[in-house]
Amino acid sequence: MKIIIIGAGPGGYETAALAASRGIEVVLINDGPLGGTCLNEGCIPTKALCAMDAPNQERKREVIGQLQAGVAQLMRNKLITLVQGKASLKGGCSVEVGGETFTGDALIIATGSVSASLPIPGAGSALDSAAMLNLDSVPARLCVIGGGVIGLEFASIYRKFGSEVTVLEFCPNILPRFDVDLAKRLKAALSKRGIAIETSARVTAIEGGSVKWTKNDKDFVTEADCVLMAVGRRPNLASLNLDEAGIEYTPRGIKVDENMQTNIPGVYAIGDVTGGMMLAHVATAHGKRALNHICGLQDGIDFSVVPAAVFTVPEVACVGKTEEECAGTEIVAGKANYRANGKAVASGEADGWCKVLSDKATGRILGVHMMGAHSSDIIHEAAVLVALGVTTKNARDIIHAHPTLSEVLAAAIAAS
Ligand code: NAD
Repeated sequence: MKIIIIGAGPGGYETAALAASRGIEVVLINDGPLGGTCLNEGCIPTKALCAMDAPNQERKREVIGQLQAGVAQLMRNKLITLVQGKASLKGGCSVEVGGETFTGDALIIATGSVSASLPIPGAGSALDSAAMLNLDSVPARLCVIGGGVIGLEFASIYRKFGSEVTVLEFCPNILPRFDVDLAKRLKAALSKRGIAIETSARVTAIEGGSVKWTKNDKDFVTEADCVLMAVGRRPNLASLNLDEAGIEYTPRGIKVDENMQTNIPGVYAIGDVTGGMMLAHVATAHGKRALNHICGLQDGIDFSVVPAAVFTVPEVACVGKTEEECAGTEIVAGKANYRANGKAVASGEADGWCKVLSDKATGRILGVHMMGAHSSDIIHEAAVLVALGVTTKNARDIIHAHPTLSEVLAAAIAAS
């Protein structure tokens, strides 16, 4: 069997490696550096900046280079052929790259996403997240448009570097799709660290260093030396030739079924290009599902249980349903604070909180929302509890090592 994969981000390259490990021949077509947005201008370089006290491009390049070499090594498999260039669909499972045609038994589109912008005057003068990562100096005043994941991560990073940071968010809360309780606590924690956050703020124009916005029918101006546009991402559909290939899509992304298959049999789409949760680990899981379907295998991946983490200071993490999504179910919310945790206090990381939502009738854990040090690691224990439908009664009997930050989760379960 032979499959064609377009895009070598965490969706495409992980799927290529998995396919090759199953003895499947892969043609992996990529237009850009290996690793996609995640490795080159997303998750990894931002985490490198999170660990610095000042922007250091050399260190960032080192980290990317090291991990890129790892991906290249993974792709050095005799069953994987790497083709550099832009793929254009030719119908069925055929694609063309630079005049050459490749045909497979299946085709997987994993072309990711690109930064979105606002249709306002001066929008072109704002930096996107990729450009932000290339700054080697610290702007005295940074204005971030969009209080979502990208906006808040950069706000935290540049606040730490010493910038005066203002975040302008259109919705009534930051992180609009997250648990409202969690979002409010994060807003308070970021404000305490000196980040100015304006919600229900509508940006109308950028003129030089002046960002104009309105709130409650009043006009405001924020002066900035640097403006970051972080109002979401859109699927990268450019030059795929979807219309001619007859593949259905909307501006939000390529339409797929539960097996990630498009309306054309044998043609699949995974990750950001499908417009769902734009997360690297979701793209990888999508690829696994698509490959399993191609191979006639079933899996138990539950796409409603996706852990997510935002690397602000303090970081936040969540899995399962938000309190708002539990509407209609009678729930119990067990809560615990980091400041009651020995390890958190001893290590000076006492700013944090955890909430466990469970079904009052069955005791089943439905969602966990956390803010605090290492919550992005602790959330995986919660993911297991939610994915396996564990009840608070059973979870209370699980022994946690002392002293650890994971005891915050145990304390919130105990309070349920
Ligand atoms: P996002 O959807 O998380 O946030 C965009 C924010 O911009 C929203 O809060 C939205 O309300 C706001 N907004 C929209 N229009 C606006 C306007 N006119 N004025 C002010 N605010 C406005 O998108 P993002 O932060 O750009 O991130 C893009 C994608 O990348 C997301 O899906 C995100 O999950 C993903 N990502 C994830 C991570 C992570 O997992 N740690 C990190 C970075 C990016």
